[in-house]
Amino acid sequence: MFNLILFGPPGSGKGTQSERLIAKYGFKHLSTGDLLRAEIANKTPLGLEAKSLMDKGQLVPDEVVIGMISSALDANPGVPGFLFDGFPRTTAQAEALDKLLSLKGSSIGVVLFLQVPDDELISRMVNRAKTSGRSDDADPAVLQKRLDVYKRDTLPVSVHYGQLEKVVEVEGVGTIDDIFEKLTAEIDARNN
Ligand code: AMP
Repeated sequence: MFNLILFGPPGSGKGTQSERLIAKYGFKHLSTGDLLRAEIANKTPLGLEAKSLMDKGQLVPDEVVIGMISSALDANPGVPGFLFDGFPRTTAQAEALDKLLSLKGSSIGVVLFLQVPDDELISRMVNRAKTSGRSDDADPAVLQKRLDVYKRDTLPVSVHYGQLEKVVEVEGVGTIDDIFEKLTAEIDARNN
C-alpha cells in the first residue's frame, strides 16, 4: 500500500490534482473537506456543527476529522493506497494518522507539498467561488482567515513530515498538466 498526502494551502490545487491522481493510480481519495460537506448536505448533527466553523474559516475539532478518517480507513480494505487531501491539518492530526496507518502495518510514503504564492491563492479561491457554491470561498475576510489558520496550525504538519524526510516541494503554478506531470514523477520514483 502506498499512501500520500497532497499538502498545501487552500486554493493550491489539491482537489484538482487529487482527481487526476486517483484516476491514474486508483488510490482511495480521502478529502476531509469533501467528507464534511457531505455531512452538511445530509444535514447530520456533525454537519451542522462543522458548518458554522467552516463558514468562519476555522478548523473543525481534531477528534471529529480523525474519527472520520479512522472510519474511512477501516471501510476501504485492499485499496492500492490512500490519497489524503486537506488532512492532516494539525500536528495532532498528523500524529494520529501515523498511528492509524501503523496499526495497519503501513505509513505515509510521501508528502507532496504544492507551492503557490498567497496572491495567486486568493485569486484562485475568488474564482472558485463563482462556480463551487462554497460559502467559505466567497468572503475575502474568510479567505484571509483560512490562510492565517493554514500558516499557524497547518504549516507545522510539513515540519513533522520534514523531520521524517517525507516532504517533496512541487511548484504549484503553471498548467494543470505540467503540475500533474511533476506530481506523478515524484510518485513513480517512490511507488514501485
Ligand atoms: P477544504 O475543502 O479542505 O478547503 O476544507 C474546507 C473547510 O473544512 C476548512 O476550512 C475547515 O473548516 C474544514 N476542514 C477540512 N479538513 C479539515 C481538517 N483536516 N481539520 C479541520 N478542519 C477541516
